[in-house]
Amino acid sequence: GPTVGVLALQGDFREHARVLAGLGARIVLVRRPEEVDAIDGLVIPGGESTVMDKLSRAFGVADPLRRRIAEGLPVYGTCAGLIMLADTLHDAIDGQQTFGGLDIVVRRNAFGSQNQSFEVDLDVPVLGEPPVRAAFIRGPVVESVGPRARPLAALADGRVVAVEQDGLIGTSFHPEILGDHRFHEYFLGKVRARIA
Ligand code: GLN
Repeated sequence: GPTVGVLALQGDFREHARVLAGLGARIVLVRRPEEVDAIDGLVIPGGESTVMDKLSRAFGVADPLRRRIAEGLPVYGTCAGLIMLADTLHDAIDGQQTFGGLDIVVRRNAFGSQNQSFEVDLDVPVLGEPPVRAAFIRGPVVESVGPRARPLAALADGRVVAVEQDGLIGTSFHPEILGDHRFHEYFLGKVRARIA
C-alpha cells in the first residue's frame, strides 16, 4: 500500500494512524523534515492549530510541507488540520500561520467551546449513503470557498464544513473517532491515484 504520513507534532494523530493502518496504508509519524520527503500523502489531525503552527516551524517541517503541498501532495486535514490547510485564517491572532493549499477562508472555534461539542448526520454526496456521522469539537467553519476549492458538505443552515481541491480534503469535524472511515478511504483513493 501507499506510505501515508500523519503529522504527529500534537493532537489526535494516533487515532488517524490506527484508521489508516486498518485501511492498508504504511504509516509514518511525521515530526522531521526527512519524514516529509518519505510520504505519498499526509493526514493533519485535530488538536490545536496555534500549537501545530509553532511546533511545525520549530521542527522545520512547515516549509518542506508547503513545498510538497504546492507540488500536489494529497493531504487530508481534520479540524485543526483543516485550519492548517486553509489559505486564509479569519482574524488570525499572534501571527498564526498555516501551510495553506485550500482556497478557503476559515474561522476557528466557530461552534463554541468544548462543552458545546455535538454530533450530526451529514450528507456528503461524494461518499454516497448513508450520511456521515460527524463529531464537532471546537471546530472551524469554512467562511468562504474560493474558485479553486469546492464544498463537499454543509450543515442544514448552509455553513460549509467539508471541502476539497484536487488532492486536498478538509473537514471541520472528526470522522476518525466515530468509526466511519469513508473520508479516509476517499483520501487514500487520491493518494493511490497519484502514485499509480
Ligand atoms: N479549536 C482548535 C483550533 O483552532 C481545533 C479543534 C480541534 O481540532 N478539535 O486549532
